[in-house]
Amino acid sequence: MRLRLAIQKSGRLNEDSMRLLKECGIDINNGVNKLKAEATNFPIELFFLRDDDIPQYVENGVADIGFVGENEVYEKAKSVDVVYALGFGKCRLSFAIRKGDTFTGPEFLTGKKIATSYPVLVQQYLNKHNIKAEIHEISGSVEIAPGIGLADVVCDLVSSGSTLFMNGLKEAEVILNSQAVLIKHKKFSPEAQAILDRLLFRIESVKKAKKNKYVLLNAPNEHLDKIISLLPGMRSPTVVALATPGWSSVHSVIAESDFWEIIEQLKAAGAEGILVVPIEKMIL
Ligand code: ATP
Ligand code: ZN
Repeated sequence: MRLRLAIQKSGRLNEDSMRLLKECGIDINNGVNKLKAEATNFPIELFFLRDDDIPQYVENGVADIGFVGENEVYEKAKSVDVVYALGFGKCRLSFAIRKGDTFTGPEFLTGKKIATSYPVLVQQYLNKHNIKAEIHEISGSVEIAPGIGLADVVCDLVSSGSTLFMNGLKEAEVILNSQAVLIKHKKFSPEAQAILDRLLFRIESVKKAKKNKYVLLNAPNEHLDKIISLLPGMRSPTVVALATPGWSSVHSVIAESDFWEIIEQLKAAGAEGILVVPIEKMIL
C-alpha cells in the first residue's frame, strides 16, 4: 500500500512541504499529472490540493495524511488528528485596525464590521469575550476592506505585518499562532500506521538536525576538562590527540539555541580553531 499525503498545490506551504520530503530522502516522481505524484523510493503518494480543502480530504479519507496550516485545521473544524508540528509556515491570525485607532481590548470590536476569511475562528473569539459584531466573510485581499469602506476591522494571517502596514492598518490582537502541521485521518490500518511512523521518524531526524550544530575545536590538554564540561555531546564529546603534543581535537554537538553562549565560553577556556558544521540528519 501507499500512504496518500495531501500537500498544498501552490502557495506558501508548497515549497517547504516538498523540501521536507526531499530532506527525508523521499524522491518525488514529478510526472505530467499535476494532481498526483508518487515517490520512487518510499510508499507514499502525493495529492496536490488547495490548502483550504486538505482538512476535508483527510477527514473523509481521500487522503490519509496532510501537511496544512493549523489555521485551516481549526477554521474548517474537521474531525482529524493533529499529529506533529512541522515548524514551517509560521504566522498569526490577528485582528488589525486602522493605524490611527487604539485597540482598547475585545470591547473595541463591539458593533464593528469585521472582514475575514476565518469566520469560524473570529466568531469563537467573539463568543468567548461575549462581544457582538458583524462578520463579513471574504476569501482574499482582506486587508483592503477598511480602505474601501467594507469593514472597520480585519482578521487575517500576518507574518511580518508589512501587508497590513501598506494598507494603513496595524496588528491589534493575535487570536491564533499557527504553523504547518501533519494531520491524520481518524482511522488508520496498522500497515498505514507503520508507514506514517517511518515518515515521522525521518521528519524528526531532519528537524533535530536543524536545531543542532556539529562543532570541532582544538584544545590545549591542560584546559581539556574545562572545555569538555562546556560541551554536551550526544553521549559525551569525542577527544582525539593532535599531532602537536599537548593538544587535542574535540568534537561535539551543540543546540543552535545555546550556540553563541557556548562558543564564547569555549574561546574563553582556551579553545582554538573552532569549526561549526551543519548536521544533515540526527538519529538518537
Ligand atoms: P490556496 O490556493 O491553497 O487556497 P491560499 O492563498 O489560501 O492558497 P497561501 O497564502 O499560500 O494560501 O497560504 C497558505 C498557508 O500558509 C496559510 O494557510 C498559513 O497557514 C500559511 N502562512 C504563513 N504565513 C502566512 C502569511 N503571512 N499570510 C498568509 N498565510 C501564511
Ligand atoms: Zn487557501
